[in-house]
Amino acid sequence: MDVIVPPIPDTYDDYRATLRAFIAAHKPVLTWKQRTGVRVPDGADDVELLRGYVRDLDEAGYRLDRFSSERGDPHEQRILEQELGAAGVPHVLGNPLVAGALKHFGTDEQRATYFPPMARGEHIWTQLFSEPDAGSDLTSLRTGATLVGDEYVVVGQKVWSTWAQWADYGYLLARTEPVEGAGGITAFILDMHNPGVDVRPLREMTGTTDFNEVFFDEVRIPVANRVGEENRGWALAKVTLGNERVSLSGEGALWGRGPTAGDLVEIVRRNGGCSDPLMRQALARLFIEAEVLRLIRIRTVSAAVAGKPPGPEASVRKALSDDHGQHVMALAKELCGTAGMLNDATPFDDPDPTWAFGYLFAPALTIGGGTSQVQRNIIAERVLGLPHEADVETGKTWAETRH
Ligand SMILES: Cc1cc2nc3c(=O)[nH]c(=O)nc-3n(C[C@H](O)[C@H](O)[C@H](O)COP(=O)(O)OP(=O)(O)OC[C@H]3O[C@@H](n4cnc5c(N)ncnc54)[C@H](O)[C@@H]3O)c2cc1C
Repeated sequence: MDVIVPPIPDTYDDYRATLRAFIAAHKPVLTWKQRTGVRVPDGADDVELLRGYVRDLDEAGYRLDRFSSERGDPHEQRILEQELGAAGVPHVLGNPLVAGALKHFGTDEQRATYFPPMARGEHIWTQLFSEPDAGSDLTSLRTGATLVGDEYVVVGQKVWSTWAQWADYGYLLARTEPVEGAGGITAFILDMHNPGVDVRPLREMTGTTDFNEVFFDEVRIPVANRVGEENRGWALAKVTLGNERVSLSGEGALWGRGPTAGDLVEIVRRNGGCSDPLMRQALARLFIEAEVLRLIRIRTVSAAVAGKPPGPEASVRKALSDDHGQHVMALAKELCGTAGMLNDATPFDDPDPTWAFGYLFAPALTIGGGTSQVQRNIIAERVLGLPHEADVETGKTWAETRH
């Protein structure tokens, strides 16, 4: 595919400078940021500060296209993404992907109702897809939604629901037809404050709480909150999962956030360089990986700028960047020397605490948003044209099982 990322004209320098100054003046100082700063806040105070920051940005007219039915100026949008991303605190609260689903499959009324409060940080969203027995094989999900009058009644359980403890709304996939596989799945907007929704936070080895279990005990959802047609939810899920691969593939080593391989090299340089040949080679390897990822990113951005949906290159990039993130964090830990055995150690005592958090979070990189094995399956099928993998138990391919 063509790689064309038009340069941002100089006439946008003022826009960037004003935005940068605005972010510097309004970026909240978070208790949680001192420790990690890249994932989900632990305290309600920090959530409120973040809501205020997102509201300030919106009131000043800095709104991302994903929360609008109209397309904004493409150069301003790119600058917004870059500068907000570089700020190091979330500028979109909860799950940002639901907006893409509403944009393509929602009704005008749903967009008018939910986009403005999402953009203002008033509504926080969580993605309610994964279940204890449905992760990679999401089409085997069991949470049921039964139509009773003009409401669906939801019974079941989700897990790994990021931000759910702070969420006002959930983007839910549930089974409306008792058939196997992708057919029979429907997408819904779920009010997380409804009776029967029980959110139970899960504490991770990072010491933070990103995820939750969410239980549904006869939770009622009005028909108007169905997104798209009944039993056609898998089409939405596929778009969301594709967009997720792109959104998790930014520059920082932790799904686009946090420090980069370049930051690590910079720390080494600042601290007298490195004469250990193995360490130098490891740093060079990180540089090579980062450069390959940068070039693939240009292709992804080119496609996005041209208005094309994410293709299999997003899977290539996600698979590579997840491994790369783990390599960066592992090397940062090694550079701590024996102090690395302590949880809070950072390379050469660098003040960025994300290094310490990142090492413990890094194993999640190759799992969330589709595991590395699943990305490689997608590449084998859609890029290399190999047949769909066979079911381990029956020996049948997906096509033979489902059709
Ligand atoms: C940080 C993070 C955030 C997340 N946030 C959310 C969220 O907000 N909402 C949500 O719904 N979910 C979320 N998830 C869940 C995530 O989508 C799942 O963890 C992921 O899809 C994998 O599913 P699983 O955990 O059930 O593992 P499984 O699917 O059980 O996989 C277990 C192992 O088997 C391998 N495997 C499975 N199938 C195949 C195959 N066909 N071929 C080869 N190997 C295979 C996998 O690669 C993996 O190594 C999050 C996960 C993480 C780590």
